[in-house]
Amino acid sequence: MLEQRLDEVERRIREAASRAGRRREDITLIAVTKKFPAAVILDAYALGLRSFGENYVQEFEQKAPQLGPLPGAVFHLIGHLQSNKARKAVEIFHSIQTIDSVKLAARLEQMGRPLDVMIEVKLSEEDAKSGAATADVPAIIEHLRASPLLRLQGLMTMPPWSDDPEQTRPYFRRLKQLADSLGVTQLSMGMSHDLEAAIEEGATHIRIGTALFGPRRKE
Ligand SMILES: *Cc1c(COP(=O)(O)O)cnc(C)c1O
Repeated sequence: MLEQRLDEVERRIREAASRAGRRREDITLIAVTKKFPAAVILDAYALGLRSFGENYVQEFEQKAPQLGPLPGAVFHLIGHLQSNKARKAVEIFHSIQTIDSVKLAARLEQMGRPLDVMIEVKLSEEDAKSGAATADVPAIIEHLRASPLLRLQGLMTMPPWSDDPEQTRPYFRRLKQLADSLGVTQLSMGMSHDLEAAIEEGATHIRIGTALFGPRRKE
């Protein structure tokens, strides 16, 4: 089942990349395993997946010990990080995609470990989603570029939900423009239903849950 779904996702990625004149290897598929047990991560790893996304520090803290060594696997935190979970987060994740303030960046730095990070950008003012306001992004970048430990990888966004990819495309385009204007090269954007639009607009990391693992149980 997972194998067929992965084939289908790979086909979608390749087709979107080819439409956009981009190379498949410039796009990282992050398998989003939130709310699925550790066994699902192991199955995905066995099929060759190496990048994983989890939303909750506490949930992944419980799963991580069940995984054993997975050489080459990279775990990204893609959900909001509260400062009081910063210590645990740097222990269990290789990358944190949801930096949304200088304060959080400074807190992570205090942990004294090298860490890949992305800045989560909030591109729509209306909804209460987490992320830094566009206007605050330059100051966060400046802070990260001066940091000996935090390595700025790129920008991440989660547009307001719509099942129509054409509704989210303008957000992807704006994130790309913002990144270009700030000299940032990687973009984490696009989920199961809109990965094509994201890739066409320049995503370097897509975060895919449902299309690989099926529907999640509700909270
Ligand atoms: C759950 C989640 C995803 C994956 O969404 P799907 O629609 O299941 O592919 C991607 N990014 C973030 C931040 C998420 O919380």
